[in-house]
Amino acid sequence: MPNILLQHADVLTLDTEGRVLRDAAVAISDGTITAVGEIPADFQADETVDATGHIVMPGFFNAHTHSAMTLFRGYAEDLPLDRWLNERIFPVESALTADDVYWGTSLAAAEMIRGGTVGFADHYFHMDRVAQVAMDSGLRANLAWCMFGREEGEIGADLAEIAAFTEQWQGAAGGRIRTMLGPHSAHTCTPQFLARTAAVAARQGVGIHIHLAESEAEVERSLVLYDLRLVELLEANGVFEVPVLAAHAIHLAPFERAMMAAGGATAVQCPTTHMKLGYGVTPVPALLADGVNVALGTDGAASTGRLDMFQEARHAALIQKFSARDATAMPGDLALRLATQNGARALGFGASGAIAPGRAADLIMIDCSAPHLQPRHDLAASVLYAAGSQDVSDVMVAGKWLLRKRELLTLDEERIRNEVQRRAERLAAAPRCPVNRYPAGGSTL
Ligand SMILES: [Zn+2]
Repeated sequence: MPNILLQHADVLTLDTEGRVLRDAAVAISDGTITAVGEIPADFQADETVDATGHIVMPGFFNAHTHSAMTLFRGYAEDLPLDRWLNERIFPVESALTADDVYWGTSLAAAEMIRGGTVGFADHYFHMDRVAQVAMDSGLRANLAWCMFGREEGEIGADLAEIAAFTEQWQGAAGGRIRTMLGPHSAHTCTPQFLARTAAVAARQGVGIHIHLAESEAEVERSLVLYDLRLVELLEANGVFEVPVLAAHAIHLAPFERAMMAAGGATAVQCPTTHMKLGYGVTPVPALLADGVNVALGTDGAASTGRLDMFQEARHAALIQKFSARDATAMPGDLALRLATQNGARALGFGASGAIAPGRAADLIMIDCSAPHLQPRHDLAASVLYAAGSQDVSDVMVAGKWLLRKRELLTLDEERIRNEVQRRAERLAAAPRCPVNRYPAGGSTL
């Protein structure tokens, strides 16, 4: 791999000291950052990039999404979660094919790269096709095949088949692809199925990616059926014996936060979806204070609008400040750390997420020529409150450019756009046979 030298960059390192460097250089060899600031005199660059007028920072990790749901962007609006799922999403998903998932995910990959995302945790169906997109796009990915394990049988694919998928893809693409098991949630899987899944995950040495406590109805249902809150239910079935990526984590009692911390789980807040569907607020400051790793995700494009981690980081900061009526509730670069290194760690890419020697060269360049990025007194504030995905000019993963001078190097965007348009129209007109129901209000417990 070529040695790459970035020069004259403003660097938001997000390192342990939170250093910000002006007019600095970054050296990259073999996919790893080897020097920042002072570059050794003997460093031989094969490629030198003039980063004048750019911010260099770690790329984002989208820690919870359903990439192929780009096909349903704008398809289910202004509905509460139960009706959003039961009337719009579950029915249309019943017509999805493996090829649809491939093209929907390809669109998501293009969008994520353009928005400065370097890795994503995907939780969906036909995940072997998502793995193909991860291979081709150059992104890092943590893939979980969504499972509904219920009394009447497993839906989507069976646990043995899915375990074969996780084993086959764990560590693929030179380590860029990792896997987890993906039981949908505690309200769509039986405790017995969760326990079986946890046992397989432990045996395989993989984690579990699951939706957790996104509505009060779920918590009520668990209390009525099992006399346990949701985290207790997962704990009782061995889920926290492996690393857990818990999407949403909104309706938690204090003791549940402590259980998550003890289990080394990650809570993934999806702030835009939480606001758009009127969910509530993930208690991020309390989770962090209790020692829970907190990352950020977009969730699917049907519930968030866009797969944009600038937006999620900004909303993560704003939603805490707004709900606590406290401007200090999410200070400094904290929201950016949740969106980068905390997600990287949760997805199994702990070497990513900081611009520092020895860290993976997963970085982005932000073009600061637009009016909204003048002046830049505080780089973290400029990125968090002023920059957007449209300002990303370059994206590198493992030392390889995926986006260079705003040109996408690994994906054929025009073909992807055409395929997605055609497939989205077919899906919207397809006959419906929903295979799932989400509990409404408390009335259908
Ligand atoms: Zn989700």
